[in-house]
Amino acid sequence: MKFLALIIIVVIISCIFYSYRPFINRGNVSIANGKEAQSTAEDYAQQREMMVEQQIVARGVKSKRVLDAMNNVPRHLFVPVGYRRGSYFDQPLPIGSGQTISQPYIVALMTEMLDVDNDDIVLEIGTGSGYQAAVLSTIVKKLYSIEIIEELGIQAAELLKKLKYGNVEVKISDGGLGFPEKAPFDAIIVTAAAPEIPASLIEQLKPGGRMVIPVDNNSSSQDLLIVEKDEAGNIKTKSTIPVRFVPLVKGRKVTE
Ligand code: SAH
Repeated sequence: MKFLALIIIVVIISCIFYSYRPFINRGNVSIANGKEAQSTAEDYAQQREMMVEQQIVARGVKSKRVLDAMNNVPRHLFVPVGYRRGSYFDQPLPIGSGQTISQPYIVALMTEMLDVDNDDIVLEIGTGSGYQAAVLSTIVKKLYSIEIIEELGIQAAELLKKLKYGNVEVKISDGGLGFPEKAPFDAIIVTAAAPEIPASLIEQLKPGGRMVIPVDNNSSSQDLLIVEKDEAGNIKTKSTIPVRFVPLVKGRKVTE
């Protein structure tokens, strides 16, 4: 009887351990000869699946296109090597130059709010690591992405090219001014917080288009806004949730 109880306990512990394995097995895994083995693509794919279920589906994101994109884009490749263990954690991470890659849920939520499909021409302001751009590129026809810090923009453009996200064009510039040569856009996503909605971005939105943008409020966070332009050109703004983004800076391109 005692033996049976022991076996049951061992089986339960093994099940618990197995279901938490992707969380325990983050990043480097020690192996017998003292060297470290990197997590494999398969480990990361498993962590990604859990990220989608526990952080994104659980919080109400439903769009299949968005969930597929979050499941397919290898977020860890957009995270600096030193932070890679935490790629699929429920948090933003540093990407250098004082900037951050957004929390997975926020990337998914903003992509869902943008409500885009494979006919759409989209503008992103704040390329950063290129992760949000990669997620969008799997859904839309063409994505223009603007980054003000040259080093980040070049790095992201190279990575996106290497990973074959071929419909993304990165431009180094002040995104607050938009991309007049390629306007108008079906949708615009801004991934840095603005003091107000930049007028040039509203101008560059197609009638019937929408913009998702974090805008400063009176507290320490920002409001994530959905801005819609109707066919007559009227603007309607809806505030959704409080968020925290790095600021949208003004000026000419910054070279680090
Ligand atoms: N979307 C990114 C995260 C963005 S962090 C990702 O998936 O990794 C915000 C980015 O906006 C930073 O890289 C910052 O340099 C950039 N940024 C800030 N002000 C900007 C501006 N005026 N024009 C373009 N990019 C800007």
